[in-house]
Order: sequence, then structure tokens, then C-alpha cells
Amino acid sequence: MPVGSGDELESIIAVGPKLSAVPYQPGELELMQILADQTVVALQNARLYSELNIQNEQIRHLNTDLTEQNERLEIMDRVKSDFITIASHELRTPLTQVKGYSDILAAMNDENALTREQTREIIGHINRATLQLESLITAMLDASQLDVDGMQLTFVKARIDTILRLAGEPLAQALRERRIQMMVEGVNDLPAIYADFKRLVQAFTNLLGNAVKYTPDNGRIHVTAALIPSVDREEYIEIVISDSGIGIDPQYHELIFEKFFRVGDPQLHSTGSTKFKGAGPGLGLPIAKGVIEAHGGRIWVESEGEDESRLPGSRFHIILPVKPPGIEIREASDTAVRPAYLVG
Ligand code: ADP
Repeated sequence: MPVGSGDELESIIAVGPKLSAVPYQPGELELMQILADQTVVALQNARLYSELNIQNEQIRHLNTDLTEQNERLEIMDRVKSDFITIASHELRTPLTQVKGYSDILAAMNDENALTREQTREIIGHINRATLQLESLITAMLDASQLDVDGMQLTFVKARIDTILRLAGEPLAQALRERRIQMMVEGVNDLPAIYADFKRLVQAFTNLLGNAVKYTPDNGRIHVTAALIPSVDREEYIEIVISDSGIGIDPQYHELIFEKFFRVGDPQLHSTGSTKFKGAGPGLGLPIAKGVIEAHGGRIWVESEGEDESRLPGSRFHIILPVKPPGIEIREASDTAVRPAYLVG
């Protein structure tokens, strides 16, 4: 019996001979045809049902995507208003110090009560506060450069070990004071890469600085570097910075690379460049990402989640091409590669 609707044959119901060998009667054939017709309806229903299920599943996925996008937008919206809080807090703190110390200086000077030692000490405080202001404003300008005209890079032949050593230098005192052990492995045998030396040092200082900031005293920071097998003919270097710190909740793994985003309540953060959880203005990672991507590289983070008692840690992966795409190499020497590379 053909099973199908219209011209379309869906399947066939085949019935063997009766045991009695008596031929099928017209009534029985008619019954079988009815059965076949009903089978078509059942088959069509089953198909419609499964299509409906697939569509439902797709709608469920779309809904989840939409909810995730909504949550992201909500967070981004919060980041915008947090920016005002953070920027005013970060700017006001050193500014208040400058104002306070210069008032003291003026008052003591009026009373002729200033010794050389006191003057030196007060000027030291003012100097530190202005340096802090300067670095914040530089970071803000760097971050805004990312949006406006991309990052202007000048490529030179550079060694990863030198870049990492220079990037780690400003943190040496903090590592000693907070007894954090930093180990660097695998950097000596790597080929030199073409890079904007200063910018890459800045990016790695931000990343290593974060590893210090979000790792409690007596923790560990492990940096590994290796040449990775590539699918194309280009060569790439992968650097992984792992810390034994508080870790990062997976819901923030992408958002932390957005400007002015930082985990937690902006009001609760204190300003500090190396003390434990002494958050900054939330510009370190966006700048690092901008620099690395301008080199044709990639950066991402892996972490089980944030937990201050278990300390799951974070692993930042950085991939850098040995020769960034699109740069012209005129001479294979240690001198600057011209023209300056404009990443737009
Ligand atoms: P910040 O100036 O606040 O350090 P960043 O852009 O450097 O800004 O980092 C953004 C946020 O990402 C930080 O506020 C912090 O919550 C999180 N973060 C960055 N690096 C780490 C790390 N190694 N461990 C844990 N959290 C981190």
C-alpha cells in the first residue's frame, strides 16, 4: 500500500501472503488503504511536531542570546555611570593630596616654621600625587587613542625576554614587599619579534601589575613563553601569565577588556598600583588588548571564577605574531622598521 499525500510517496506498507494462502478480499484491501492514509496523517503530525520542537529550540537559543546581550548592555550602562564615580574618585584623591600639602607648605612657610627636611618631605608627597595624576591622564589618553585613530606603532626587532624584564622592573619592589614569587620560563630560545617596544612593555606591565594586584601576599606568578605551531606559514609566540590570585568570574572574562570596567562596586575600591586589590581606573586591560591587537595578536583570559579563599587564579594568554601582518621590513637589523605603522 503506498503511503503518501498527493504525488509524494512517503513510504510503503508491505503485507505478506496470508498463512491460509487465501487472496486478499477487496474489503481487506480497502481497510489497508485506510490504514495507509491514516499513517500519512500520523507521519505528517510527527514531522510537524519535530519541526515545531526544532523551532522552539531555536527560539529558546535566541532568547538566551537576547538575555545575555541585555545583561551585557545593562553592565555596559553601569560601566558608563561607574566611570564618572571612578574617574572623579581617582582624580580627586591625588588632587586633594596636592591641594592639602601645598596648603600646609604655604601655612608653615608663613609662620617661618619650615625646616629643609619638612619641605623635602612635603614636596615628595606632592610629587607622588602629581605622578599618579599624570599616569592616570596618560592612561585615559592612551585609551581614547584606541577609539579615535587606532594606535600608532613603530616596529623594531625586539626580544620577548627583554620586554618581559623591562615590564617587570617597576614591580620588583612590590614583589619583594608582598613576598610574591615571579617565575619566567621559556623566553630565552624564542626568535626576536617585530614589535613596538615601548607599547609592548606597557601592555605587559599592565598585565603583570594586575597579576600582582589580584594575588594576595606570598602568592605566585608564572610566566611562560613558547613558539606555537601555526596553521599558516606565519610564526606565533604564546605567552601565558598565570597567577595564584582571586580569579575572575567567567561572566566578566570579556567585559574586563572594556574601558573603565572593573569587577565589583566602584565605591569600595581603593586607589593603589600594587597593593592587594588596589584597583585602578579600569584601563590597564583595554590598553593591553589594544596594543596586542595592533600587533596582529590576541589576548584572552581563563579562570574558574572569583574566590578569595580558594584562590583559583587567572591565566592570561597572549598570542603575538613574530612578524605582524602588513609591516614592511626594510632591513634585518635592530633599527626601527619604517614607515610607522598606523593601525586604524
Ligand atoms: P584596573 O585598573 O581596575 O586594574 P584593568 O583594566 O587592568 O583595570 O582590569 C579590569 C578588572 O579586571 C580589574 O578591576 C579586576 O577586577 C580584573 N582583573 C584584571 N586582572 C586580574 C587578575 N590577574 N586577577 C583577577 N582579576 C583581574
